[in-house]
Amino acid sequence: MKGTVLGIEGTAWNLSAAIVNEKDLIAEVTDTYKPATGGIHPREAAQHHAKYASYVVRKVLEEAKEKGVDVQDIDAISFSQGPGLGACLRTVATAARMLAISLDKPLIGVNHCLAHIEVGRWKTPATDPVTLYVSGANSQVLAYRRGKYRVFGETLDIGLGNAFDKFARNAGISHPGGPKIEELARKSTNYIPLPYVVKGMDFSFSGLSTAASEALRKHSLEDVCYSLQETAFAMVVEVTERALAHTGKNEVLLGGGVGANMRLREMLDIMCDERGASFYVPEKRFMGDNGAMIAYLGLLMYDSGNIIEIADSHVNPNFRPDDVMVNWIEDNQQEKEDVSN
Ligand code: AMP
Ligand code: MG
Repeated sequence: MKGTVLGIEGTAWNLSAAIVNEKDLIAEVTDTYKPATGGIHPREAAQHHAKYASYVVRKVLEEAKEKGVDVQDIDAISFSQGPGLGACLRTVATAARMLAISLDKPLIGVNHCLAHIEVGRWKTPATDPVTLYVSGANSQVLAYRRGKYRVFGETLDIGLGNAFDKFARNAGISHPGGPKIEELARKSTNYIPLPYVVKGMDFSFSGLSTAASEALRKHSLEDVCYSLQETAFAMVVEVTERALAHTGKNEVLLGGGVGANMRLREMLDIMCDERGASFYVPEKRFMGDNGAMIAYLGLLMYDSGNIIEIADSHVNPNFRPDDVMVNWIEDNQQEKEDVSN
């Protein structure tokens, strides 16, 4: 792998620009939209990104220069093409296009979910994992097979993080709710039954979030937080375990903002231990949304010739990871034979 890529992330509340090369992350500058009240307001988040886009880009170029990487050294510009909030995606895509045109560099549109996986493969020893990607808006179990990252299971409604945030808002806890739910859950071991919804390989969190809010009428906040976590995490761990069994893989990688949760990590760790699989968690800065992962997948895609024309660089708020042809991973001989048979 060779090259230097500047990548911009801005699918939701984090605006982040980073420069990576084949050796490492050179520089990263992030500015986070923080809602005054309630959750993420898409238009306000997009306005935040528009306001700070030139700042994060200028600053990341400055920081890279201090480390000996000049603007002329950049080979390509990558950006999050989706999935995400439409208004945010469009703002960041506009910034990326302007940068590509003014620097006369190729443009690369990155799938945000795949960037979470690839940064995990980069920053942990995982090589061919089943990935549990749990963030605010997304919740998926993914693994590579024959030229694509396949979605083995996913949420049928909202993301796990959003389910937590929604419950938290109802309970009067400020955004983001996840970290506070984790703290409160630690104070209880009293499990209240809540709807456990796994359908085939998919899961659903909306009913669980509502039931948890209703349970607050009869139970303490600590007990409900504990039960909400236990239920939601058992659901995603069950599906991750079945994806492991189905694919025969022996590594699990965790990604997304909810991956910061220590109880979720513990449950995955126990499951992996019991199955003889290895469990990998990247450093926290690479788990939530970050520019480094967009720049890094941009670099993989640059090296494998995945460049797009400006005219084809429209964003896709529902961009599915299994829509991307993955030509930066070498299939092993057995898999190639499977495909040709
Ligand atoms: P992301 O969308 O990847 O930026 O992640 C943001 C989501 O992660 C929000 O919904 C947060 O509530 C959630 N989150 C962050 N930290 C934790 C935690 N310790 N436990 C559970 N959820 C968390
Ligand atoms: Mg994300």
